[in-house]
Amino acid sequence: MKEKAKLTIDLALSAIKIKRSEIDALGNYHIYVSCTVRSTLCHKCGEKISRFHGQCDDSIIEHLPILEQRVFIHVKWPRFRCHNCDNNPTTSFHPQWLNNTGSQTKAYENFCLKFLINSTVKDVSEKLSTTEEQVEGIINRNIDTDIDWNKTHPKRIGLDEIALRKGHSQYLTIVSDMSTPGKIKVLAVIKGRTKEEILPFLKSIPKKILMSLDAITIDMSGSYFSALKELISDMNYFNRIVTIDRFHVAKLIGDKVDKERKKVIKKLKKVFKNDEDQLMRLKHTMWPFRHHLDDLDDNERNQLENLFELEPALKECYELRECLYRIFELKEISKKEAREKIDQWCNNAEKYETKGFKPFISFISTYRNFEENILNYFTHRISSGPVEGLNNKIKVIKRRGFGFRNIKNFAKRVFLDINYKPILLPATVR
Ligand SMILES: [Zn+2]
Repeated sequence: MKEKAKLTIDLALSAIKIKRSEIDALGNYHIYVSCTVRSTLCHKCGEKISRFHGQCDDSIIEHLPILEQRVFIHVKWPRFRCHNCDNNPTTSFHPQWLNNTGSQTKAYENFCLKFLINSTVKDVSEKLSTTEEQVEGIINRNIDTDIDWNKTHPKRIGLDEIALRKGHSQYLTIVSDMSTPGKIKVLAVIKGRTKEEILPFLKSIPKKILMSLDAITIDMSGSYFSALKELISDMNYFNRIVTIDRFHVAKLIGDKVDKERKKVIKKLKKVFKNDEDQLMRLKHTMWPFRHHLDDLDDNERNQLENLFELEPALKECYELRECLYRIFELKEISKKEAREKIDQWCNNAEKYETKGFKPFISFISTYRNFEENILNYFTHRISSGPVEGLNNKIKVIKRRGFGFRNIKNFAKRVFLDINYKPILLPATVR
């Protein structure tokens, strides 16, 4: 008979002594242990008590798997009686490594949480051969979505809306801490995006933290803007910290300019309806048109030039968009200088018209409404990159999470994947 390689391992569990172990028909390990402690702390008075008062019923505790087999610890915890408290209550021993339910070790819970990152409850329960209820219980017990303001001191906060289900006008507001670039954290997941829905959370931010922020970035929807206006009575402070994310400015102008492209394409398609070659060329212009010139290869530049040859006015429109973009890309300019440059840009854009229509007028009026707060970008230089990254992560969770029964569950998954991930998997953030 061949000799098998055997290994003695440390279970890393204190207060117990192994009596015997078994392997069941499924290959799972059952480890029978006895408890070695002779005292515990009274649950009422907190004093050390050592008067033994029998054993509890058999506990079966799941611990970390060994060689991919499940591991169960069988133990009867001792119970002790207190003689200091009225009615002499008893307390059973509960080791530090055991979770609150007493049916899994904390190490096992952590192990399960690691598996849950970027996975569904169903996937994880299948992979760990356990039930969905068990996995959900682990999430509920371990993922805390309430902020401890004594431990959280954000300097930069972002408010972003996300559509929960397309076409159902169900929205969430994600509040994030953007203080450390590349290490964005979620502060809250709020149901809705209206002023009334977000104000309760905003009001829960301690005044001391609220009044020492460098920036709060928002979109141009108006409801975040008016909620913050109600929250912050000091208008100077409001104008200094409330910042419209440049991403939203770019999106607004991008949409306007793209509308013009669509009109032109529609017109040209009619003109060339019998010219297959030209029609093919028009087909591939959307991508190059929507992107910046620097990001295009030669082929894409040619496609764009071809389109502009057919419709020179569209080139002017495109260049106005690019010109504004380049102002935001300037690294060294101050808020004052940016204001002058954008004023100049507005003068040019105002004059642009096609067939009596001025596509930039409404953009300019929106810009004037939020001017101070758009220009704050040039003071804070908060890039929209991390927020976009966060939104993408949340979209992935959303797509994966068709089983989410409520916002609270959804929030827990967002917190797990974003805030808890660097703690659970420290190596991946390096
Ligand atoms: Zn007591």
